[in-house]
Amino acid sequence: MDARDPNTPESEGQLSLDNPVNRHPKISPPKQDQPEPGLDAKLEPAADHGETSYIGTGRLKGRKALITGGDSGIGAAVAIAFAREGADVAIAYLPAEEEDARKIISVIETAGRVGIGLPGDLLDAEYRNSLADQAAEKLGGLDILVNNAGKQIAIEKLEDLDDEQVMQTFQVNILAMFTITRAALKHLPDGASIINTTSVQAYDPSPTLLDYASTKAAINAFTKGLAVQLAPRGIRVNAVAPGPIWTPLQVSDGQPKDKLPKFGHNVPLGRAGQPVELAPAYVFLASAESSYVVGETLNVNGGKSTP
Ligand code: NAD
Ligand code: MG
Repeated sequence: MDARDPNTPESEGQLSLDNPVNRHPKISPPKQDQPEPGLDAKLEPAADHGETSYIGTGRLKGRKALITGGDSGIGAAVAIAFAREGADVAIAYLPAEEEDARKIISVIETAGRVGIGLPGDLLDAEYRNSLADQAAEKLGGLDILVNNAGKQIAIEKLEDLDDEQVMQTFQVNILAMFTITRAALKHLPDGASIINTTSVQAYDPSPTLLDYASTKAAINAFTKGLAVQLAPRGIRVNAVAPGPIWTPLQVSDGQPKDKLPKFGHNVPLGRAGQPVELAPAYVFLASAESSYVVGETLNVNGGKSTP
């Protein structure tokens, strides 16, 4: 017999007890290749960003967020969740990603929020420097910054990893974080939240991702140091460290092609994560609910152990 109170939300069908092993399907993606940056529109199988499943509860009502890389993958899931939680959202992305960006902006607008697209290349200094100002101007303020854009190109041997790739990976993944965050500070009021996307790669680097993994370790140090610097101003800085998540990053040379069919099978849950599974971590860190959480790295990785 069910001893639970029949008046709990469960009996109203609002909660269900899902098994995390099969809450999302175990995927074995076919070998596929897209030029960088990849598009969600062409990803096979399609990824889940919460388009039909994420339900907001007003936790970010009236907030104004800038999300880099908000067109696809994890950033897109965060953009959808933020909008459904009541925030207006600006997403930054490469001009080649307009198709993905349009779709996400339309989901934001359907949630009744303002959705702004800010296309540009983070390798371009003028764009990097102006991004936070553009977002603040178009949104009428800024109180959440999600530094999420990332470049990941797998290279088997150090001899084949040239300086140009190393510099571009550092520029997009970590140097741009300094520039954008510095520029955002003049807009961010007390109570604001900065969330940086790092990776399990920061602690468990793949031998094919030396440049990428190094940037993620740097992001962890940047996050912890900046968190201490900004805490007295009432601005919280935290990070989210995803494990293997099914996004276009992985098919635009982010993984060696022969690894794709088993992508994510090696974590304790036995499957890759979907972008929608990351969104609640960002919502938690953005909202005032996490007011005493500062300089933390929230690991969302299917059970891989972390330091
Ligand atoms: P994604 O390809 O959907 O997102 C990455 C985004 O970065 C792109 O959409 C693009 O807009 C942006 N970007 C890349 N180069 C850029 C440039 N030169 N200028 C402007 N924007 C640029 O993939 P994702 O997996 O959702 O990646 C989001 C973040 O998550 C990245 O920081 C990535 O390192 C991190 N991450 C991903 C995984 C994973 O398994 N997918 C695991 C750990 C961390
Ligand atoms: Mg993209």
